[in-house]
Amino acid sequence: QLPCTVRDLSEAAGIPAMQIQRVLMQEGVMARINDSMDEDLTEFVAAELGLEVNFAQAVTLEDELLASIRDAEDPEDQLQPRPPVITFLGHVDHGKTSLLDRLIGINVVSGESGGITQHIRAYQIEKDGAGISFVDTPGHEAFTEMRARGANVTDIAVLVVAADDGVMPQTEEAISHAKAADVPIVVALNKIDIPGIDPMKAMADLSANGLQPSEWGGDIEVVKTSAITGEGMDDLLETLLTVADLNEYRANPNRNALGTSLESQQESGHGVVAKVIVQNGTLRVGDVVVCGDAYGRVRAMFDTLNPELAIEEAGPSTPVNLLGFNTAPAAGEHFYVLDDIAKARELAESREDQARRDSLGSTGPVHVTLENLFD
Ligand code: GDP
Ligand code: MG
Repeated sequence: QLPCTVRDLSEAAGIPAMQIQRVLMQEGVMARINDSMDEDLTEFVAAELGLEVNFAQAVTLEDELLASIRDAEDPEDQLQPRPPVITFLGHVDHGKTSLLDRLIGINVVSGESGGITQHIRAYQIEKDGAGISFVDTPGHEAFTEMRARGANVTDIAVLVVAADDGVMPQTEEAISHAKAADVPIVVALNKIDIPGIDPMKAMADLSANGLQPSEWGGDIEVVKTSAITGEGMDDLLETLLTVADLNEYRANPNRNALGTSLESQQESGHGVVAKVIVQNGTLRVGDVVVCGDAYGRVRAMFDTLNPELAIEEAGPSTPVNLLGFNTAPAAGEHFYVLDDIAKARELAESREDQARRDSLGSTGPVHVTLENLFD
């Protein structure tokens, strides 16, 4: 991985950083341990020290610890069905939070300041014995941001469109996000209870945006819903389970867990509370986890719907509130279970160092090249 720092070269070659710094000093450069060198300079220094550098073989701590986890293919006979993870997307005020509230039978929306969702909510419910997980986000920025970090937690997007408003600018954005994520879309044509509305207009909007309703011969299921009266709720759940069945989402519960952090904060009396969703494997109390620059041992986990309910283990597609991280991991960071807390700490700290170096920018470590070396 290039450019490499004095430390990287020292670690890769197994020689003291001082020796590298001495070579650089002879050329008039005072390099600190975290200063980076480009490929030419690295080769120059290596040659001075009589080392062969093979850049292709530079193995980072990241690779060493995580590559085998990331690349591990689950044996076919270990794969079991897992609940689908469903995300609500759509224009503000079209009813995403209300629909989720209605589906799980709680009322968060009335308690929201200004009616705007502040937190990512994630819940798992059961319908006819089958699990379904839902994620409600404070607008699709969160969805996009997570995808930008490579976190694809969503299996199916529910596009919420208020029947009285039709397709709005954020609806269009949501459509393109869902398409970019390549996930199936189910439309909830919401607020169907409003007297005198004409659902045809919203349907025409959808079709103009490339979402052809199935009742018009297309392949998009449009379910008419009302979060107020409850109309269409069963229909929506059944449609989602049908789409899920068709896609046969599976995971391997018999491996170390990995997943994504959705949100986390420091809570007085509790330390860091991280909301995470397990995507594969089973997460257990006592497991060593690393997530971005955070690490720790899972001290306790709680159900997201019933925050008092402690749980010992969480399988694929399960969201939990997790205690045990030393610091709050960023939203969208992947977490992994490792065997060794010392390794987890080493990885977390090296990422923290890297982040610090990146954010220092021009006032930070010098990027030394052969050119500026001989200036
Ligand atoms: P979000 O921004 O998409 O999460 O939308 P909210 O769930 O916060 O809902 C915005 C407003 O629309 C709230 O005042 C809700 O009570 C109202 N609302 C949501 N769903 C319906 C519905 O099906 N019918 C009617 N009449 N109002 C609804
Ligand atoms: Mg909301």
